[in-house]
Amino acid sequence: MVKHITPRLNRRVAELRASGIRRIVDAAAHRDAAGQPVYAFHLGEPDFDTPEPIKKAAIAKLQEGQVHYTPNAGIPELRSAVAHDLYFRYQASVDPSQVLITVGSCEALSLALLAVLDVGDEVLVPTPCWPNYLQLPKLIGAHAIQVPLAPNTGFSIDPAQLEQAITPRTRALLINSPNNPTGNVISRSTLETLIELARSYGLWLIIDEIYQDIVFDGAEHISPFSLVRPGDPLIHIGGFSKSYAMTGWRIGYAVAMNDAFSAMLKAHQYLVTSATSFVQWGALEALSQAASRASMRNTYQLRYHLVEKALEQAGFRFTPPQGAFYVFARIPDAYPNSEAFCLEMLTEHGLGFVPGDVFGDAHADHFRLCFACATDELRAGLQKLSDIFHPSSERSNTK
Ligand code: PLP
Repeated sequence: MVKHITPRLNRRVAELRASGIRRIVDAAAHRDAAGQPVYAFHLGEPDFDTPEPIKKAAIAKLQEGQVHYTPNAGIPELRSAVAHDLYFRYQASVDPSQVLITVGSCEALSLALLAVLDVGDEVLVPTPCWPNYLQLPKLIGAHAIQVPLAPNTGFSIDPAQLEQAITPRTRALLINSPNNPTGNVISRSTLETLIELARSYGLWLIIDEIYQDIVFDGAEHISPFSLVRPGDPLIHIGGFSKSYAMTGWRIGYAVAMNDAFSAMLKAHQYLVTSATSFVQWGALEALSQAASRASMRNTYQLRYHLVEKALEQAGFRFTPPQGAFYVFARIPDAYPNSEAFCLEMLTEHGLGFVPGDVFGDAHADHFRLCFACATDELRAGLQKLSDIFHPSSERSNTK
């Protein structure tokens, strides 16, 4: 008799936690399919269409026959334009040869971690954070060390707290500003201290600035590019998804200092060869669309004000975001945890929120509301929330 042996799967992949956001997305899709509407406050995706000139530029290049591999690091025109854009914004002295065009900023982040982490190494991640930061290091056999930030500081990074978490295995600090999910923008003085920490402990400072264009009410996004010296161990992650409503195009970039660039390029060559040819031309056009990105930012700001008013009236506690398009609010006291709260909101009221512990183990008393959905949907969903948590209601929060 022939013996059948079941092949086994990779253990590191088995250890990845299923995306908590996906769980809510799937439950929402189920509800939607059953004809019950869902207010999609759980998705971190702009509702806008990609601006027309960007589409036209990509279509023109596609029709022209730009359908082949491009140079591995990206088309020279886009690499130069990214370097110029960063100079224009931050007076960053970035050479185009340090710019790597990637398949979304997701790939840029994966490459950065692949380039700097070995098996058993640690990367410090202040939480709440975008969930990928906690899972990706596992693929390399490395560890994301969560450094939970305090809600009463608006989840601001405390460099002393990060310094205490450094061990001989620490290789990198991974930060995000403006932050998903809190909207916190890292201050100049904190960034200066973090750069100093990276220098003195020999760590890479990896910063994800994908929300750099979306800041509110006079807040200023400071990039480490304005503060670093040549030779500093910086890797910047950037992208087009959020600023230009290009999530489905899958295009982003990294700027990597010192020898990180060639390490990331090597990994990128084997993983994807190059980003999609005509998409890179669309991204090039995007960088000249300052008016479109400003108009989207203004709309996010207006939407935030609607959210702020509704959440305050319903008695929710939260720190106003300075950027991105999320509010990270405390769950009402009547609920045991965020999962229970989000599940009830979705199944009973069609309100899609993401439980706080998806963004770090210490945050199960919070939930994330995304206001990148259409303004009408936002208004209707907020009305629903106000109806449930009217100040006179029993389940109302305590302020
Ligand atoms: N970085 C952060 C902080 C995000 O929130 C997201 C998406 O939600 C990404 C990166 C992914 O961006 P991209 O679409 O460029 O891969």
